[in-house]
Amino acid sequence: MYDVNKIRADFPILAREVNGQPLTYLDNGASAQKPQVVIDAVTRGYAEEYSNVHRGLHYLSNLATEKYEAVRGIVARFLNAPSEDEIVFNSGTTEGINMVAYGWAAPRMAEGDEIVLTVAEHHANIVPWHFLRERQGVRLVWVEPDADGSIPADKVLAAVTERTKLIAVTQCSNVLGSIVDVKAIKAGAGDVPVLVDGSQGAVHMPVDVADLGVDFYAITGHKLYGPSGSGAIFVKRERMDEMRPFMGGGDMIREVTRETVTYNDPPMKFEAGTPGIVQTIGLGVALEYMMGVGMENIAAHEASLAKYAAERFEGLNWLNVQGKAPGKAAIFSLTVEGGAHAHDLSTILDKKGIAIRAGHHCAQPLMDHLGVPATARASFGMYNTTEEVDRLVEGLELCHRLFG
Ligand code: PLP
Repeated sequence: MYDVNKIRADFPILAREVNGQPLTYLDNGASAQKPQVVIDAVTRGYAEEYSNVHRGLHYLSNLATEKYEAVRGIVARFLNAPSEDEIVFNSGTTEGINMVAYGWAAPRMAEGDEIVLTVAEHHANIVPWHFLRERQGVRLVWVEPDADGSIPADKVLAAVTERTKLIAVTQCSNVLGSIVDVKAIKAGAGDVPVLVDGSQGAVHMPVDVADLGVDFYAITGHKLYGPSGSGAIFVKRERMDEMRPFMGGGDMIREVTRETVTYNDPPMKFEAGTPGIVQTIGLGVALEYMMGVGMENIAAHEASLAKYAAERFEGLNWLNVQGKAPGKAAIFSLTVEGGAHAHDLSTILDKKGIAIRAGHHCAQPLMDHLGVPATARASFGMYNTTEEVDRLVEGLELCHRLFG
């Protein structure tokens, strides 16, 4: 049985008060809180086990290297990647997608080539492709969500032409909560590689990249209950062989002379400079923690929260929920027609100790599509409860009373 109170007890920050009220943390879409095991791992990493990794010949360097490198296997297990050599560490999804844009896409795309992406992408999965548009004349082909926020795989596939060189899609919208069937997209894409932004997807459901068949799958540690500045991207072996290094510097080289440079074997070929050592070790602990609870269990718990929240919001006829796709994740973007602005909602809820996020959520093309300047987003995680949904609804009712 899923014991949410036991899980909550693992996250020390959830016991604190904010503005004299118990903290109701519903800003998990932006960044999630950390369990004590992750906090301990980071503290221990610096207090007892810290040194730079790789090439060290002393005890602490070997220890740090061993712990850091062990995380590759943990990420591979978390994503069910065929090999840990297909996992590249980075600082998060933004870096992962930029690496693909610079290292894999840029050298393979010419003017008029196309990248298919959805209007619901986060800027991290838009701006790197705009760079290719600006610099190389690549065309961005946009797929709009349906009226209920669904992003059907066949709609994405219908945008593919013989000029399509990449499909870049999120698995879960950080605004609408819609889940995209990336397996069906990959299955229908023929030879066109598929990049998946897994920043939200990997948090809310089990991911099996071998089964999905996708070419790139990016995750970001701080949303996975791990440290900020940690992350990884799965890159299929064939794509790795095609990819150029994105950044140059220590660790990614085999030999440097005045005239030449040769590179380390992948994945290290794509990891330049001193990495986020302790952050990555903390990411490994966070993923072990999630797998210990069970991704299926987390998904089921969050599905029941999503259902409960959707039912409670239904009762508020002045509240608009942006995105009602079937099976959506527990991410709710809320607007009030002619009433409180998203920022007002957030400010008033904060007085009640409720943390949500107001703004465009780094998804301006989607805001344009929805015809709203901003939304108030309540995003749930593995430790949230139905009582917290009730507290949110009470807070929203208060806003409605204050703003009419
Ligand atoms: N993609 C999605 C869907 C996100 O929600 C986020 C974070 O908000 C990102 C990408 C960017 O992640 P990061 O800032 O950790 O690189």
